[in-house]
Amino acid sequence: MFKWFGKVNYTPYTKVNDFAQYLKDGRLMGTRCKKCQATSFPPRADCEECMSDEFEFIEMSGKAQLHTFTKIVAAPTGFEDVAPYIVGVVDLAEAGRAVAWFGETIDEDEIEIGMDLQIVPQIFDELEDIKVYYSFEKPGTTWVKTDSS
Ligand SMILES: [Zn+2]
Repeated sequence: MFKWFGKVNYTPYTKVNDFAQYLKDGRLMGTRCKKCQATSFPPRADCEECMSDEFEFIEMSGKAQLHTFTKIVAAPTGFEDVAPYIVGVVDLAEAGRAVAWFGETIDEDEIEIGMDLQIVPQIFDELEDIKVYYSFEKPGTTWVKTDSS
């Protein structure tokens, strides 16, 4: 279940082209498989359930409830400089689960299982490949939408 988890999630342009534009517009998108209706967040071009490559984008609210969390003290290679950090698994309001880091709006001692969270995209689009990672923030947290005009 952690195979797509990372500090930075690379989304290749070739497969999910429109995703970059949605992010620039500040929209949080997932994908839904056209064959089996499985929902993925972040978007996936290939269905995890049935391997179909036919998908459509769906807009996600980013509303979520904390399912579980853990504090990483002994970090894996490449993450040593940021340890300790806290990652959580949430149940998404729409469907499915997502893994992300806790952002700056939440203190460690406020974290409890079942709490409401907002998934916020952190976008780096000045590079050739768009990079995005997600953080959990307090409900109602908004994020900066890049002016794409
Ligand atoms: Zn499918």
